Amino acid sequence: MAAAYPNANIPVYELAEVNTKPFHIGSFRQEWLNRLEPTDYSYQQQDEDTFHANFVEETGVGAETMAELKSICSIDSLRCHPEDQQPDMEVVPPDPTLKTLIQRKRRQDYRASRKVTKNRHDIYADELERLTAGKRPEDVTDLIPEGEVILTINVYYPAVFEKFTYNRSHMTLLMTGSHSLAEFRDAICCVSDLQVCGEFSNTPDVAPDFISKDHYKSAFFFFEGVFYNDMRFPECQDISVTTIEWAKARNFPPFTQAKMEDTRMADLKVKVGFPYLYCHQGDCEHLVIITDVRLSHRSDCLDRKLFPLLTHKHRIVTQKCAVCHIFIGRWFTTNDQFAPSDPCLFCDKCFRMLHYDAQGNKLGDFLAYPYVDRGAYN
Ligand SMILES: [Zn+2]
Ligand SMILES: [Zn+2]
Repeated sequence: MAAAYPNANIPVYELAEVNTKPFHIGSFRQEWLNRLEPTDYSYQQQDEDTFHANFVEETGVGAETMAELKSICSIDSLRCHPEDQQPDMEVVPPDPTLKTLIQRKRRQDYRASRKVTKNRHDIYADELERLTAGKRPEDVTDLIPEGEVILTINVYYPAVFEKFTYNRSHMTLLMTGSHSLAEFRDAICCVSDLQVCGEFSNTPDVAPDFISKDHYKSAFFFFEGVFYNDMRFPECQDISVTTIEWAKARNFPPFTQAKMEDTRMADLKVKVGFPYLYCHQGDCEHLVIITDVRLSHRSDCLDRKLFPLLTHKHRIVTQKCAVCHIFIGRWFTTNDQFAPSDPCLFCDKCFRMLHYDAQGNKLGDFLAYPYVDRGAYN
């Protein structure tokens, strides 16, 4: 098995063979609701005494055992420092055995070795989950109903970015069962959607009007033999038909089709832990893995409007302008007499100062292409 999976960065639970059998998400939710008491998934916090009384009744432990359990399981007993000492939260104790501390130490060492300081992006990433935990909506109609199902989904970098195939998932999103696949699609940010194709050295001002997302709106998800096409806009095409016809001609088991916008997450039949596909811009293919399906909890973010909820995002180093080294590259040029290299990357300001006069007339010979940095979405 190890030989088949040389990539140690992919955790064991995401290996191809480690997945559940296919199941229908809505039915899964219903099964849970049939078995649980409404108080089990209620957002109302049960008061502690009732909880303990129920616990004693269900387990049949005596009052003495209960008192002992309470003190042993208390958060106060979770310490890795002497009782009378106030610990420095930034310092990981030596030789930690707790996995969270081991990870934290590794991260701290990495930062120390690379002299990385926390910037606002890191702080934001760390905060992503904390900011939304337990968040309630201002308007009660936006409250996620009790007993709603929540899916955790990892979306990976497209395989074409070779550099990133060894990375962890690009982003992790939480979706509720009532959200549609189209809402899922809109939450996936990929730089291919922002790409501008064409040479614009004569008309640099019109370039932003040519964003791929506005021109090529077709996309599909592929789950368990079904292509879910985005057909929301008149210019959308069914781009799954080529594969379906190809499979039909070769006597493969038939694939079916449905519309992304008409399919809720709860309607899907899927395997948890299994790699599925999201395809857009013709051939930008992302793996999509559902890693968890569960009922909502009162400590979740309960504001429906904040979903699909981003809980993790991988950050990429941005490519800076070759002239100022400050701003992110927006243009690259070729055959450029002013450029130190071919191709050469410029920020918008340096590009225009170097290549056009005050009236905006092109100076000299060069070809200019809009450039969208992969880190632009950070
Ligand atoms: Zn993409
Ligand atoms: Zn610049």
